[in-house]
Amino acid sequence: MIATSFLEISAKAYRQNIRYIRSEIGPKPTISAVVKGNAYGHGIAEMVQIAEKAGIRHFSAFSSDEAWLVKHNSSKNSEIMILGMLYHEELEALIKAEISFYVFDFERLEKTVEVSKKIGKAAKIHIELETGFHRTGFEWEEREKLVQFLQKTKEHVILEGLCTHYAGAESVSNFVRVKNQISVYYRFKDYLSENHIFFNRYHTACSAATLIFPETIMDMVRIGIAGYGFWPTKETYFAKLKDLSKTNKNPLRRLISWKSQIMSLKKVKMGEFVGYGNSFMALKNMKLAIVPVGYGHGYSRLLSNSGQVLIGGQHCQVVGTVTMNAIAVNITQLKNVQVGDEVVLIGKQKSKEITVASFSESTQQVNYELLTRLPKDIPRKIIP
Ligand SMILES: *Cc1c(COP(=O)(O)O)cnc(C)c1O
Repeated sequence: MIATSFLEISAKAYRQNIRYIRSEIGPKPTISAVVKGNAYGHGIAEMVQIAEKAGIRHFSAFSSDEAWLVKHNSSKNSEIMILGMLYHEELEALIKAEISFYVFDFERLEKTVEVSKKIGKAAKIHIELETGFHRTGFEWEEREKLVQFLQKTKEHVILEGLCTHYAGAESVSNFVRVKNQISVYYRFKDYLSENHIFFNRYHTACSAATLIFPETIMDMVRIGIAGYGFWPTKETYFAKLKDLSKTNKNPLRRLISWKSQIMSLKKVKMGEFVGYGNSFMALKNMKLAIVPVGYGHGYSRLLSNSGQVLIGGQHCQVVGTVTMNAIAVNITQLKNVQVGDEVVLIGKQKSKEITVASFSESTQQVNYELLTRLPKDIPRKIIP
């Protein structure tokens, strides 16, 4: 089977991003590569391979299905951590496979201990603290019960981590909220230490926290978006610009390129409409290229009459509506265009480039969303 488009994933760009993050955090902390959301759309199998070659030995998945995918594609000595969803029925298999997971309430804690006892193997757990994100995590009010429980069940759990997640470290407007979260985390950590409960790793930082709040780095950082070469927000980038002025270069490199080819060519006369409805009328005689990528492939309908692609090293605009499987682009200005010519949806062609940022600004999606919406079945090709 040959797909209508494909994604290229640059291993070299990833190595550069990891080098940059390493330079920010120093030699000691572990980098956990966050590969939830099909590795932010890059493909879990491909990213595990690329990351291990770049020296990464720790992976974070959202759910157990993703964790198993990492397991099947990783080397024996890589650690795997689940940040979110798992079913109680899976605990036995996860504990046996030494996949660690977040525990954020007493129900999961009790079930975990129950299964550990039954199979005679201690579970590797990360205790998640509620510090202000208000999604998951143990509350400060639950601290005494938590301590009692952990002291009582010491031989059934390995306390791999004490963790939390920040609500909006990527924006200065959340500065106070994040600072508060950091202090709540430390208050909780101190309380647990005073009660002789210690963890192998203390970890709290996502990409934005790592880059903007260095005090959150601790023993491990959980790096998602920056590893894939994107700043969590423009603000994060601006906040780092001063440090970066020495080299005058953005240290993060996009891994992903999205390419297709021209399926067919079409001439349209002045006054004719293109595609469904009447959203685009040709104001002069035009030449169009039909590209076999549509909203069913993750190319947002919001790009109707506004998206751009690269053909022959030139920007060409989408005309008419994005349909399920195809777009039409204006190539009137180009010469010698042929069926089969390369079309770049994201990435470089000759001296021109279409970035995910420009793409997601025009679709009002943030980088994260655009990437994770790229369908799993578009083939991914690793470029060394
Ligand atoms: C997604 C996620 C991360 C990574 O976030 P980025 O902003 O992509 O670096 C880290 N920690 C947790 C708990 C997450 O859910």
